[in-house]
Amino acid sequence: MKTENRPTKKSSETAALLAIEGGVPVRTTPLPWEFPGASFIGEEELELVTSVVRAHSPFRFYGPQAQHMVDMLEHEWCVAFGHKHALGVASGTAALTIAISALNLGPGDEVLVPGYMWVSCVSAVVRAGAIPRLVDIDDTFCMSPVDLKAKITPRTRAVLCVHMSGAPGHIKEIAALCKKKGLFLIEDCAQAAGASVDGIPVGRFGDIATFSFQLNKNMTSGEGGMVVCQDESLFRRIVALHDLGYPRTATGRLDTSSEKDQLWGMGARMAELPGALALAQLRKLPAITGAMRKAKWTIRNALAQTPGLTFRNIVDPAGDTGPFLLMLLPDAHKARRFIDALRAEGIAGQPGSLACLTLSEWGMHWYSNIPSLVHKRSNSRDGFPWTHPDNAFALDYDFGKGALPVCDEYQDRGALLTIASTLTIEDVLDIIAAVRKVARVVLVS
Ligand SMILES: *Cc1c(COP(=O)(O)O)cnc(C)c1O
Repeated sequence: MKTENRPTKKSSETAALLAIEGGVPVRTTPLPWEFPGASFIGEEELELVTSVVRAHSPFRFYGPQAQHMVDMLEHEWCVAFGHKHALGVASGTAALTIAISALNLGPGDEVLVPGYMWVSCVSAVVRAGAIPRLVDIDDTFCMSPVDLKAKITPRTRAVLCVHMSGAPGHIKEIAALCKKKGLFLIEDCAQAAGASVDGIPVGRFGDIATFSFQLNKNMTSGEGGMVVCQDESLFRRIVALHDLGYPRTATGRLDTSSEKDQLWGMGARMAELPGALALAQLRKLPAITGAMRKAKWTIRNALAQTPGLTFRNIVDPAGDTGPFLLMLLPDAHKARRFIDALRAEGIAGQPGSLACLTLSEWGMHWYSNIPSLVHKRSNSRDGFPWTHPDNAFALDYDFGKGALPVCDEYQDRGALLTIASTLTIEDVLDIIAAVRKVARVVLVS
């Protein structure tokens, strides 16, 4: 606690008066940036990146002195999480796009997607020509197995389950249901690298799982992602799709000899520089998520009995990676007031940071905030895939607000704090003090 930056509390009265009403704020220094992996970038990243640069070999498949960074990343990833196959790719969005095509999904097929996710989950489905069908969430903020069951139609071929905001929901139930109904299960683990349920890492429940290493994620290479699966022939398809549509020979050259694997590639290979960054970050992932989990649960446990404040249901706290604290307030008005008051208390990041906000400000994480979905936009003049004859079953699908009651309610009365991976104990105590101070006034009246 740097005392020189802290306002002195003159009396308990001014300390109790909310900063938003002219009182003394709990703190005035901004909270640290919320980018979990980026805050841990150091000598290890520098060393691996440097070796790629010195070797003049930034391409993964061949080069004068290939350093095999992406190969090592994939290998260590499989060892860490128990996957059979892992493939580094250019982004999480590319990973999803590859997953959809690897499962042969297209016109006439429906993919069930939760209403709280990220725009990429929908765009991957739509670009493949399939139709997204929305499924509501439950108090885990992830897909509700109950609503999932109700939303399955004869057109449904796959479920895209998204482990939101650092932790999975009822993924075991969802995996069991998919198995029973003969549906493919894709896990989008972009926001939950390193998470688990009952000791089973995310990505091990479905047919394919995807990850992202964009700046906001638990580990980062700036851009990057991973596709994992257990099945050998599915993986061959994934490899061809992420590249130019064909497998490669042992020397890294394109192989057009097998008629089995001749597809249309996505051009989403991972390069060696992001590979090097991601490799160094993977080795630090337990430290990054451990720091966030500890800070988050210290805050959450301290605030457990706060009247008017409830928290997201985390199925297995030990497997939570901790980057977000999701809260529910009694109503939309109180959520707005709560967050405004917290910000005034100094619970805020640098300008541009999304450290403390209402869930109504959470953009394209909500289905109804995705204009391309609500208005059924197309990348081509013919309106594909919405106008495709095989998709006529979906003509009356409505993606506007009102489609999913729980999502809509949480969007209105929810709030979040991002938990930086470098919060100090003083930061944590300030957050607890500020929430208690604000809750006493804003939530109990
Ligand atoms: C970030 C994210 C993606 C997309 O990852 P990019 O690497 O930015 O393309 C996909 N799904 C979810 C849930 C995400 O949070």
